[in-house]
Amino acid sequence: MLPENFPGKLLDALQYAAEQHRDQRRKGATHAPYINHPIAVTEILWRVGGIRDEVTLLAAVLHDTLEDTDATATEIAQRFGEEVCAVVLEVTDDKSLPKEERKRLQVLHAAQKSIRARAVKLADKISNLNDITSAPPSDWNEERLNEYVAWAGRVVNGLRGSHPALEAAFDQAQQQARQSLDNLSLPR
Ligand code: ZN
Repeated sequence: MLPENFPGKLLDALQYAAEQHRDQRRKGATHAPYINHPIAVTEILWRVGGIRDEVTLLAAVLHDTLEDTDATATEIAQRFGEEVCAVVLEVTDDKSLPKEERKRLQVLHAAQKSIRARAVKLADKISNLNDITSAPPSDWNEERLNEYVAWAGRVVNGLRGSHPALEAAFDQAQQQARQSLDNLSLPR
């Protein structure tokens, strides 16, 4: 299913994404390099989702480049093809809108996403919830963490029905995140 030159393309995408995200860190307390996140998203698709579709896997590597770096759609289309670019665009928020509106639109538009974009979005939310469990953003209070976990669930409800393994993995990641937040709030 995957073409012979896939590893080369994957490495090219990883190199491009690493370069684009080079000055960014994850919000977690460990401030991991940002590229760890797209790598985790792609790994979840491969291992948990059993995804062997080249376009989906390349789009996963690149999924935050349009939203968070100065990469352009033209450049992504030229280097990785129109199909990959289309999926990246599908999972990119309109940054000209206020954050709350962007979050509202993610819930509203989830059900209209293509099957590839659904896979990337599911793995993205799984990765973010895993991060909340293992290294929550140090500057987020408990309310904000809980709100994120609940919001991710609302987005995923709109994505359901096409990737059962990823959907089950999301449910598990959400449960673990809730548990770890419950533990945070216990009196000690
Ligand atoms: Zn992401």
